Amino acid sequence: MAYLDANASEPLRPQAREAMLAALDVTGNPASVHAAGRAARRVVEQARETIARRFGASAESVVFTSGGTEADALAVHGLAAGRRLVIGATEHDAIRAAAPGAAVLPVDREGVADLAALERLLADGPPALVCLMLANNETGTLQPVEQAAAICRRFGATLHVDGVQAAGRMPVDLAALGADSLALSSHKLGGPLGAGALLLGTAAALVPLIAGGGQERGRRGGTPSLPAIAGFAAAAEQARDGAYLAELRDWAEAAACRVGAVVCGGAARLPNTACLALPGMRAETQVIALDLAGVQVSAGAACSSGKVARSHVLDAMGLGALAGEAIRVSLPWNATPADVECFVVAYVEMAERRKARGFAPNR
Ligand code: PLP
Repeated sequence: MAYLDANASEPLRPQAREAMLAALDVTGNPASVHAAGRAARRVVEQARETIARRFGASAESVVFTSGGTEADALAVHGLAAGRRLVIGATEHDAIRAAAPGAAVLPVDREGVADLAALERLLADGPPALVCLMLANNETGTLQPVEQAAAICRRFGATLHVDGVQAAGRMPVDLAALGADSLALSSHKLGGPLGAGALLLGTAAALVPLIAGGGQERGRRGGTPSLPAIAGFAAAAEQARDGAYLAELRDWAEAAACRVGAVVCGGAARLPNTACLALPGMRAETQVIALDLAGVQVSAGAACSSGKVARSHVLDAMGLGALAGEAIRVSLPWNATPADVECFVVAYVEMAERRKARGFAPNR
C-alpha cells in the first residue's frame, strides 16, 4: 500500500499525537477562571504562540477555527466590509463557495495568476478584498503572492491568502508575504483533522461568523478543541519544509511521463505534488486502477461526495480534455522510495494496458 494523497490529508505526526494525548487529560474549559480553566487556557495560548511564531504573525492575531474551510470563510465574511470580491480562478471551493459572484482573476497555462489583470481589476472600481492561494491543492502551482500584495497595497485592497497547502511544505510567513490574512489547516501539515487558524495582519479588523460566547477575542465563538489545537501546534512545529520530497516526486513524474503522462502546473510548485494527465483515460478510472494496485491518489477534483467532477483548476488553465484526465499524486511527509516505486510500477502497468487497448497517446 502506498498513501500518496497528502494534499487531501497528511498522516498524523507522532509529536502531534503525543500533544493530543496530553491535552486529552486536561480537564476544564479555557474560559473558566479557576485553576483547571487556567490550565486549559495555557494549552490554547501556548499553541497560539507556536502558530504565531511559525507563520510570522502576532499571537493576538491568531484565530483558531475548525479547519481551512472555516478560516477561508471567516476571512471572506469578516474582512469584506462592503468591499467587492476578487478571487483567483484556481482557488479552492472553500473560497469559491464563500465568495459567489466574485470577479475572477484569470491564470495562465501553468496556473499562475495574471497580475496585470489584477491591476486592471483593482484600478477600476471601489476597494476590493482579493483572495489568492499560496499553493494550489491540485497542481501545487505557487502564486506570486508577494507581488500581488504590493499591487493590493497600491490600490487600497485587502489581501487574504489561502496558505492551507503551502504551510509546512515551504516557508510561509504572513509578515513577509505582506498580506492581511492567512488561512491554515492542521491536517494538511500532519496535525489532526478539525483544527485550523486564520492569522490576521496587524491592521485587519474581523467581523465574526459565529459570535457565540465571545471566545477568540470575540472573533470566533465556541469552546475550542484543546486536543486538536495542541496537535495542530505540535505538527506545525515539526512541519517546516518539504523540499526533501522533490526528488521522490520528480522520480514519479519522470516515470509517468515516459509512458505518456502530461504534467499539469508550473515550474514553481510544491515539492510534494505532481498533477499527471493521461490522455484518453478518465481520472476516475485511473484512481480506481491505482487503488486496486494499492496506490492511493486522487483525481484532480474529487468532491466531498466522492464523485469526480471536471477540474475547475485545469479548466481555468485552458487544458481542455486533460481537465477530466488528471490525477494528483501528493507525497506525505513520511513518503519513502518504496511508496514511489509502488506507484511507478502500478502507473506504468496501467498506461501499458491502455496502450494495449489501442489508445494512441498523441491525439
Ligand atoms: N484551501 C485549500 C487550498 C485546500 O486544499 C483545502 C482542503 O483541501 C482547504 C482550503 C480546506 O481545508 P480543510 O480541509 O481544513 O477544511
